[in-house]
Amino acid sequence: MANHKVRQQPRIKVGIMDRQAEVSGRLNGDFRGDGFGPVSGRFSAKAVSGMIVLTAGAHLELARSPSIRLIAREDSTFELFHVTIGNRFHWERTEDQTFQGNLIILPRKEGTIAAINEIPLEDYLKSVISSEMNAAAPMGFLKVHAILSRSWLLAALDRKEKTKETSRSARKTPEEEGEVIRWYDREDHDLFDVCADDHCQRYQGIRKIASAQAEVAIRETLGRVIVYGDEICDARYSKACGGLTEDFATAWDDKRVPYLTSISDAPIAHPPIATEEGATHWILSAPEAYCHTKDEGLLEKILPSFDRETKSFFRWTIEYPREELEEILREKSGFDFGDLQEIVPLRRGPSGRICRLKIVGSKKSMIAGKELEIRRWLSRSHLYSSAFVVKTQHDPRGKAERFTFHGAGWGHGVGLCQIGAAVMAARGFPAEKILKHYFRGAEIKKIY
Ligand SMILES: [Zn+2]
Ligand SMILES: [Zn+2]
Repeated sequence: MANHKVRQQPRIKVGIMDRQAEVSGRLNGDFRGDGFGPVSGRFSAKAVSGMIVLTAGAHLELARSPSIRLIAREDSTFELFHVTIGNRFHWERTEDQTFQGNLIILPRKEGTIAAINEIPLEDYLKSVISSEMNAAAPMGFLKVHAILSRSWLLAALDRKEKTKETSRSARKTPEEEGEVIRWYDREDHDLFDVCADDHCQRYQGIRKIASAQAEVAIRETLGRVIVYGDEICDARYSKACGGLTEDFATAWDDKRVPYLTSISDAPIAHPPIATEEGATHWILSAPEAYCHTKDEGLLEKILPSFDRETKSFFRWTIEYPREELEEILREKSGFDFGDLQEIVPLRRGPSGRICRLKIVGSKKSMIAGKELEIRRWLSRSHLYSSAFVVKTQHDPRGKAERFTFHGAGWGHGVGLCQIGAAVMAARGFPAEKILKHYFRGAEIKKIY
């Protein structure tokens, strides 16, 4: 059972590079190994028959061991060369990155290696907040994110501890004829606690700690987490809910998580979506909501530049000629529907997000879910959200010609709405109030 009694600030292991043939970098200042050191300067490491071979400079072998842990002296940092960032996204590139804390190098069975940064949790958070947030964001929002990231991470560590010896939970319902219902949760990493890209939380070492603001936000929220009863909350968040947040079960397992249930993201209470007419009305209107903002200045301050390509996220429209959507569906789902005839929402969550969608074609009909799978199938990348209504245009003979998706929100919509939270912070709401608005019934507690 997880508890939120006072504890020590944990150290966490962040996977920076994984499944590499070789890792190279530079130790800035002294590091001590197990039975050797101090060492500093350029190094490289690779796996040789299950052992890590660490070499300095040209070819001087420093150590050969099943695992290597280089412990930093105070003020020492290390650099890793050619770290991939923006993994899986179109802007993927590599850069050299500098880290505080210890460096652990471990071999994998297939002869590759992983480079892991071992760092106190609060130092890690400083970097995450600086990497994910713009330093010019409102202070209240930085604090919200500090508490959110800390909670998410500690909940993940608790979960890992709990499920250590048990098998992984299913992420798919049993195969039914004509149905693909899948969801994707973060899979546990084996050699480290979290990875450094968006799969977990974006972490780019200390180069990004340029932000005194992020440091203040971390310091002033030190040890504070969101709790519900005895548990640290699994604090989910997405970019923009669209006016109503979503239930946990629309995106992941069919279970009720009390603090991850739908709320009205507005000063007024919008009722949850219950019918198709209700969904159409909601999505085609422009209701008042915290995330309904056109304040470009604020958006620039809260979203890193590469996320700002998306201009309209509160309400959006995307249109496909029939043939194009057929091709996307073929490629993304692996099924050939033939002539696409109809797209029918079968079930929606309270934010209007569809979790069961029927796709009808001349050759095949299928039911797809949950929300992320639907977004994958209907776009070359990802549809902004599964809260949409579809308008089908027909030719004079009644054959579908064009499909127009009118949608609401950006992301799964469960938990905290980042743009809504930023707007609330800009309007002067304190961090605690913002968090309690999104995570109903939750409390903020200091655990160390
Ligand atoms: Zn990860
Ligand atoms: Zn929102």
